[in-house]
Amino acid sequence: MSCSSSSGSEDDDEGFDSYRKGGYHAVRVGDQFAGGRYIAQRKLGWGQFSTVWLAYDTTTSAYVALKIQKSAAQFVQAALHEIDVLSSIVDGAISDSKFVVQLIDHFKHTGPNGQHQCMVLEFLGDSLLRLVKYNRYKGLPMNKVREMCKCILIGLDYLHREHGIIHTDLKLENVLLASTIDPAKDPVRSGISPILERPEGNINGTVTSLIEKKLKRRARRAVAKISGQRASMGGMGEAPKPGRNIDGIDVRCKVVDFGNACWADKQFAEEIQTRQYRAPEVILQAGYSFSVDMWSFACIAFELATGDMLFTPKVGQGFSEDEDHLALMMELLGKMPRKVVATAGAKSKDFFDRHGDLKRIRRLKFWPLNKILIDRYKFSESDALEFSEFLSPLLDFAPEKRPTAQQCLEHPWLMDKDCS
Ligand code: ADP
Ligand code: MG
Repeated sequence: MSCSSSSGSEDDDEGFDSYRKGGYHAVRVGDQFAGGRYIAQRKLGWGQFSTVWLAYDTTTSAYVALKIQKSAAQFVQAALHEIDVLSSIVDGAISDSKFVVQLIDHFKHTGPNGQHQCMVLEFLGDSLLRLVKYNRYKGLPMNKVREMCKCILIGLDYLHREHGIIHTDLKLENVLLASTIDPAKDPVRSGISPILERPEGNINGTVTSLIEKKLKRRARRAVAKISGQRASMGGMGEAPKPGRNIDGIDVRCKVVDFGNACWADKQFAEEIQTRQYRAPEVILQAGYSFSVDMWSFACIAFELATGDMLFTPKVGQGFSEDEDHLALMMELLGKMPRKVVATAGAKSKDFFDRHGDLKRIRRLKFWPLNKILIDRYKFSESDALEFSEFLSPLLDFAPEKRPTAQQCLEHPWLMDKDCS
């Protein structure tokens, strides 16, 4: 199974086309699972592999997240793998301070679309992608970025050093806040009582809500189109909105989605990671280790601090997405060292000439990280310097030179950041 891009874009819904044999299981509020132990409350999110529901555990009287996998064979296999990885982490007597999601239970559920593997996970809050969206794609305050980085690094250090596990799909969607942004969305803090049976008139909840969403989205697009036309005609575009005040939000977070994780000594996929977070050695098919997670981590840190993805490669005329990606990396980080090119994988001869220049993208515009932070994102000189000194070593083309999560945690940029 391809290991890239395991989570869907949160702009869209999961689409009702995938509610068919081998696909998602349609859930209605009040549905019971595991012989009545868990009761579905509302949908929390979805990925390419699953839908995730808030559920009430009638045995422990607590809320949990119920991840219900698609039912086709490859998804079952992926779920069993994820259960395997998550159970191995739990075996090490996990505590709350590890910043990795905890698996509570798992079981199979049979429905009209087949047999679905289900995982019961601790209930967490919104993803960091939702947090960035909530902040209107503006950079988050640096003290908050530091705190989130520290949590992710503690999680990675735990996975890497104590379990030999590489996550391989770190991105904003796969890191969740420990609590919801909106306190009203937290079933415990909001104090609403759990739904214990299916409400009347909710015969086909999933499908109706998806149709409603689709109609709303169409309406929004139509409005956007009209206002876009106006903007281009009269220059009356909406003024950019400022970011929101997120001072009061608890930004402690945990790493989730172990569907693609692997043990460093038991790898199965060559193409890993979601495109924008993919490390150069993966593009060059030169083998990989824990340091691929460190590359993705640096991409995440940049995105949190600026609201923009660090690399957004595109196919162009006469070059591929891979080549554009390598060009973007070199524009930011300088030329790839010849030693790295020479020892890199099978692909490097396709992309590079013998001088270590890209064959099909010739003129690069160098724009180092420190300058981008100042010029485009209006960082103060000292903030830009400190942040780029923290990030640059993680974005080393030579994977073995990248600092480990443990080393990052000792970096002055993170000193005095209390995450407990
Ligand atoms: P997939 O393997 O299908 O990508 P994920 O594990 O990434 O599934 O979960 C999909 C989405 O469901 C997440 O992006 C998040 O919005 C939500 N989600 C997943 N796990 C939890 C959890 N433990 N608590 C709350 N929401 C969750
Ligand atoms: Mg995911």
